[in-house]
Amino acid sequence: MNENLQPSRRQFLKVGGAAIAMIPVLVISGKAMAAKNAAMRTSMKYQDKPNGDKDCANCMQFVPGKTAKDLGGCKIFAGDTEISPKGYCVAWVAKPK
Ligand code: SF4
Repeated sequence: MNENLQPSRRQFLKVGGAAIAMIPVLVISGKAMAAKNAAMRTSMKYQDKPNGDKDCANCMQFVPGKTAKDLGGCKIFAGDTEISPKGYCVAWVAKPK
């Protein structure tokens, strides 16, 4: 009977070990999902504030977040998920009305 318990204990330890090993992977992938494309931001002179009445929220390249005030993305800033709707860069193009 004691031998019957050992495999399940081993399985438990294996599964628990695998779960613990996944924590850094999940943390890293979580960071990857909320990322900034620093190279594009620099080359396009991105700023977190509008330029007059021009901002990301009224740019045709902007990909809005869940709400109008949430951070979103930009079609030309690959992988960047932290574009402010109140941001601006030199690639701004008016959203069609
Ligand atoms: S192109 Fe520039 S201004 Fe337009 S959404 Fe992207 S970062 Fe904002």
